[in-house]
Amino acid sequence: MTEDSLVARVKRLQPQLLAHFMTLISENRLAHAYLFNGADGTGRQDLARLIAMRLFCQNVTPEGLPCETCSECRRIMAGDHPDVVTVVPDGQRIKVDQVRYLKSEFSKSAVEGNQKIFIVDQVDRMTTGAANSLLKFIEEPVGNTVALLLTANKNLLLPTILSRTQIVDLLRVAPTALSDELAKVGVVPSQRYLLSTLTESVATAQELIENDWLKTAQQNVGQWLQACAAGDERAFVRVQTELVPLASNRDQQGLVLDMVVQAWHDVLRQQTQVVADSELAFPQVAKVSRELAQRLSVDQLVAILTLTLATRGQLTGNLNFQGILEALTLKILGQVPR
Ligand SMILES: [Zn+2]
Repeated sequence: MTEDSLVARVKRLQPQLLAHFMTLISENRLAHAYLFNGADGTGRQDLARLIAMRLFCQNVTPEGLPCETCSECRRIMAGDHPDVVTVVPDGQRIKVDQVRYLKSEFSKSAVEGNQKIFIVDQVDRMTTGAANSLLKFIEEPVGNTVALLLTANKNLLLPTILSRTQIVDLLRVAPTALSDELAKVGVVPSQRYLLSTLTESVATAQELIENDWLKTAQQNVGQWLQACAAGDERAFVRVQTELVPLASNRDQQGLVLDMVVQAWHDVLRQQTQVVADSELAFPQVAKVSRELAQRLSVDQLVAILTLTLATRGQLTGNLNFQGILEALTLKILGQVPR
């Protein structure tokens, strides 16, 4: 695989979030502290670095992206910029001394009002002491600072950290290679994209299409999305009548929740780009997701996606499947304007 530029990589991995953050910066609406929650391979470090570059770049492109060639951009890419401080675990843990160092670096130039960014990767690896020290820093910011905290699993974080940051979930882009494999074994086009988001194995995909399980699930989740879009309270009833019967075991319950996430991901992706029906998880309700993409703001959609992503953790925490989906549906209905 050829080495692509940082901007090209983020465009490929996180096109919506890239657009979202570039807009926030150009409108001067960047918040003070974010938590990027994304597995390895979702580009969480790249996105953080690109945000830093955009804030310091001396030669922002007409598309509103950092140029990647000016001295500021190059120093950030090389990890050698005095106002962009990155902390990674020292061994297994992020220790309190590392956070102290970070704070002293920041207080030095705070008086000058300089823009400062700190990036803490694998923030879930902080010792309790480090976490408490960092929390204080986030609560009482010095000068013009932005904190970008990164983790592969937000479920490992203290609630105090979660509640003081804006949580941004980075989703994995569906591998098109698998989609091609699925075509070879006879999966119909309208199911290929969805399947490629649910599994990385052709064998599992074949099991899922047996007895039309996937077809029915795709239909039912699509209709649930449609009811949510209409602000129709019957979305709530559909949980019991159409979603719950799809899943007779924990694995299937997990799959249904993943499909719910993908239904909203369809909407988010269409907010910033034109997506072909063949690249939608739920092409049969393309009209609905397109209309929602127009009607909802990025913030509303990110809020809804965050809610849908939390359901997987709730299932692992042994909450009742029907209860999880009903609570989710009520919260979404609260977010969607009628
Ligand atoms: Zn630049």
